Amino acid sequence: MITAYVKPTNRCNVGCTHCYLPEAVRADKRRMSDDILVTTAQFVAKMQERGRHSGAHVLWHGGEPLVLPAEWYYRAGEILDRELPGHTESMQTSLIPLREEHVELLATRLGGFVGSSVDFSQRQIKGSVDEYHRLWMKKVDMARKAGIEIIAGVVPTTREIGREAEMVKWFVDRDFGAFNIDRYNAYGTYFDDRPSNRQHSQFLIGLFDALMDEMKRTGVAPLVGASRASITGVLYGVGGDRWGGTCMSDFIVVEPDGALNNCPDKASFEESFGNVVDGFDEFAKNRFRRKWIKHQALTHKESYCFSCENQHFCQSGCPITPNGSAHGEDECSGYHSYLAHVRRFVSTPEGEALANAYLNQSGRAKLLEQATVYVSEPSGACAA
Ligand code: SF4
Ligand code: SF4
Repeated sequence: MITAYVKPTNRCNVGCTHCYLPEAVRADKRRMSDDILVTTAQFVAKMQERGRHSGAHVLWHGGEPLVLPAEWYYRAGEILDRELPGHTESMQTSLIPLREEHVELLATRLGGFVGSSVDFSQRQIKGSVDEYHRLWMKKVDMARKAGIEIIAGVVPTTREIGREAEMVKWFVDRDFGAFNIDRYNAYGTYFDDRPSNRQHSQFLIGLFDALMDEMKRTGVAPLVGASRASITGVLYGVGGDRWGGTCMSDFIVVEPDGALNNCPDKASFEESFGNVVDGFDEFAKNRFRRKWIKHQALTHKESYCFSCENQHFCQSGCPITPNGSAHGEDECSGYHSYLAHVRRFVSTPEGEALANAYLNQSGRAKLLEQATVYVSEPSGACAA
């Protein structure tokens, strides 16, 4: 499956401090032209054919995709249906600019699901996180009235460590059946509230424990891509989320002007891998893309990975996350201490039964399928 992050615009006026896009890029009001969109669809079709991929998924990304009117997406949809038959579509949005005209679009073209980022310390309105949450929930309720399911995505900062149970309760109290955890990346830049790899492990441990407590208490708990993938990895050797991916070869990011990359988190910080107008063959032989594919498959792994009990499903995790002390980190990029925690948990019959019950929550198949779109299982990536 190819995942194409298509950015109709880089414009965004929400102003999150952890945003992977530099401010100057977010201020750019240009939008993708019909010509570039047609060429993008033909490019993805060619990539699908050459790689014998089972399908193509277009994820509208940005910037903030909802700064554009719904009409833009209906027209874009007609182009994609014609040039890329059989594709699927989703959208990652802050939801803040959501208007009634978008709600129908989400319900019809996007199948009644949308991914939306929410956070617990960085976004504020008049200095208040609660005010921001109130506005975000107003937009969630507007979408829910039309039967749309929101798959929330959280990028934990150092300020969220230790607040995992509170976060799970926050989502449960507001009826979220699923949310995802995205890694706070700092490729090509620096943020002082970005957790180190060990701190991110700590967060994942707290989250896992909170979810298992919820399972014990009620028999159901929100579906979280990273928690699920760690269980399937440890129990069945099947990765997902940030573990065991092939994003460097199976993902493309298309900027509004057609410039190409293969990861949304690094697209603004390195030279592009060409442009859709140059065609797929040029992209396939682009030396930066080839370097990244090799890095994911080989050079990102450190010597300790080859003797690690998780290596078959971890594959050293996200290739832009520094892997261990040789690269200035305090833990490996596969969050070994977190995986060790999951392994200990499932080593008892009760723990294994609870973890399996978490994986097999009945009646949530459709939700699960949609929730995993935003972590691109089993390609092991993200809707960062
Ligand atoms: S050492 Fe860490 S990065 Fe390497 S395979 Fe094991 S868990 Fe993954
Ligand atoms: S998993 Fe792949 S697509 Fe996601 S942040 Fe890492 S390199 Fe980028």
